[in-house]
Amino acid sequence: MKKFKTAAALGAAIITTGLLSTAIFAEDINRVYIKAAEGSIDDTVSVSIVIDSDTYQLSALSFTVNYDAESLELQGEPAVDSIFENGFGTTNSDEKGKVIATFAGFDEGAYFHNREVMKLSFKVLKVNGKITIDVDELNEFSEDAADVSSSFAIENGVVKCSHKNTETKTEITDCEKGGKTVTTCKDCGETVDTEDLAPAKHKVDKWTETKKATCTEEGEKEGVCTVCGKTVTERLAKSDHQFGEWKVTKPATCTEKGLEERVCKLCGTEKDTREIKMTEHVIDWKTEKESSCTEAGEKKGVCSICGSEFSEELPALGHDWGEWETVTEPTEDGEGLEQRTCGRCGEKEERPIAKLESSASPEPVITSSESSSATADPSATTVPSATTNPSATAAPDGSESGDKNLPTGAAIAIVPLAAALAAVIIISKKRK
Ligand SMILES: [Zn+2]
Ligand SMILES: [Zn+2]
Ligand SMILES: [Zn+2]
Ligand SMILES: [Zn+2]
Ligand SMILES: [Zn+2]
Repeated sequence: MKKFKTAAALGAAIITTGLLSTAIFAEDINRVYIKAAEGSIDDTVSVSIVIDSDTYQLSALSFTVNYDAESLELQGEPAVDSIFENGFGTTNSDEKGKVIATFAGFDEGAYFHNREVMKLSFKVLKVNGKITIDVDELNEFSEDAADVSSSFAIENGVVKCSHKNTETKTEITDCEKGGKTVTTCKDCGETVDTEDLAPAKHKVDKWTETKKATCTEEGEKEGVCTVCGKTVTERLAKSDHQFGEWKVTKPATCTEKGLEERVCKLCGTEKDTREIKMTEHVIDWKTEKESSCTEAGEKKGVCSICGSEFSEELPALGHDWGEWETVTEPTEDGEGLEQRTCGRCGEKEERPIAKLESSASPEPVITSSESSSATADPSATTVPSATTNPSATAAPDGSESGDKNLPTGAAIAIVPLAAALAAVIIISKKRK
């Protein structure tokens, strides 16, 4: 058997590996080719052997299919039928890596236009397994039954990886510079896809303090990024100063604010200062003018520390009224009059006493609101009634001096007492 010489015989470019390839001829197309297939490991793929001739009516052919037995495992018997109407087709696959096929017709020859003459089924053990074909004999139907092998082109095939089993890995050498994801075929190792990853921050789960922060210097911590494996360093903020007690550096006076200071116990240099409020004046008060019932008095004082002078008003004392005394008794015909006197200054105050009720007529008592209008009626004989008198006269200092339910004596005592109390409070506050 002689081997078919492809390119040498035709002088044409034939691709022998890879996917289905096509040779283009100016006139005739005569070829035997293997349809390439795709599959992944453990897949079962079907590979066809096809003959295509415009020129020759063939009467016999035989060829050997060589396959890479380490990559491809033949499944069952190759399927052939008798491609000639009156003839036979046989295969022999006894030897691993080889399938021999023989076809012959007894009658007229036949044209084969892209006719599949054999189908092989392979289990993929490794991807990219090569399949080649050696045409042993290819006879034209003619009287001399010429061997036309040299006029046929041969195209071999391959069971190429379909990249079904892939894995994607993230490749980042520095998160801050970004990285990529690479998808690789686990069967053939080919890179199927790559994708860029945007720069990102490092991710550190566990930090170790490499330099402690103080109140004057930043510290530092270090950790390993769980994504890219780089050692990352970060600054630690300064710690707070730890100040001691406040100490007075300049005492406050009643004319100037003072100053106090505290110092950091850790660094000793850092100082914190704040002002101290001025103190109160210390005043010795002396009464300059005593208050009277109706006029305010005055007191004067000097600060024993700074010598500043002060003056304050002492409130008027208000009258010290005695009991109301009847001057003129009221009668049925006329009002009476009563009077009281201030025990301090002798000021007098008068007011009318209402007319007595007539035993004959039940007319209401009419009283005058003016104390000065009351006229004395010496003929009056009835008892005066202070509580029925509505006219109350205001004292000159503004305090009400009319009859109240409060005993007069108590009211008199409260006025000067309150004034004295106010003065005591002012002095004691200022001495603080
Ligand atoms: Zn692959
Ligand atoms: Zn990182
Ligand atoms: Zn400090
Ligand atoms: Zn002072
Ligand atoms: Zn008085």
